[in-house]
Amino acid sequence: MIEFESVSKRYRDGTSAVVDLSLTIPSDKITVIVGPSGCGKTTTLRMINRMLEPTSGRILWDGAPLRSKRKTALRRQMGYVIQSGGLFPHRTVLENIGTVPGLIGWDRAKTRKRSLQLLSDVGLERKLANRYPAQLSGGQQQRVGVARALAADPMVMLMDEPFSAVDPVVRAELHELFLGLQRELSKTIVLITHDIDEAIKLGDQVAILRIGGKLAQVGTPQQLLDE
Ligand code: ADP
Ligand code: ADP
Repeated sequence: MIEFESVSKRYRDGTSAVVDLSLTIPSDKITVIVGPSGCGKTTTLRMINRMLEPTSGRILWDGAPLRSKRKTALRRQMGYVIQSGGLFPHRTVLENIGTVPGLIGWDRAKTRKRSLQLLSDVGLERKLANRYPAQLSGGQQQRVGVARALAADPMVMLMDEPFSAVDPVVRAELHELFLGLQRELSKTIVLITHDIDEAIKLGDQVAILRIGGKLAQVGTPQQLLDE
């Protein structure tokens, strides 16, 4: 479980991106953070893997302050997926998937085997393995992005608008892939989106942020729909 305790983030130019956020993110569930552009979603997500540090308050992971953890260790334990895949353009599909295993010192054979398995897990044909990202459709790129994030078997998946750069049909396919993978893998997932319908469809828990970086509501989709 990840706990935000009165967390605020103010950027150097004075912008208050997140204000006094207290939120519990349960383990092995999908928490969706939803709200309009600029409400602090990305800032919140980036504080979880310490790409950004809170200005005040603290974040605990299974009871231990995040500050006590090394960033390299967090990177290994927390997969990160961004809009439109964020793939390295000059690396093949297989090389992209193997990035983190490569960084943490897996040998070539193990990395290759794991990468090929993930390629199939995200529903891509093996013949795509040696292509470059520009030779893939948007939906395929996003699948590779998910495979890359899963490569080192992280405990937590941080997903920044992972399905928003594709058309509605592909998005629906990616939703099914995502929910299917989660049924198997049961990761602690934090996914951000500006689309409330997507939040309701995917989230076990939904947290609504409003402009100004404050938490407006949090609950299960059913609780939010009942209000
Ligand atoms: P969202 O992901 O919900 O669109 P962000 O977390 O990206 O929101 O941004 C929240 C607020 O912080 C916005 O007002 C944004 O302009 C501002 N912001 C984001 N990054 C920076 C930065 N590096 N410096 C200053 N302000 C920033
Ligand atoms: P952007 O500014 O477009 O959001 P970033 O510079 O944050 O992109 O990230 C560049 C690439 O590195 C992305 O593909 C992202 O998935 C990956 N990445 C960034 N931060 C991390 C991290 N802490 N752990 C793992 N991968 C990361």
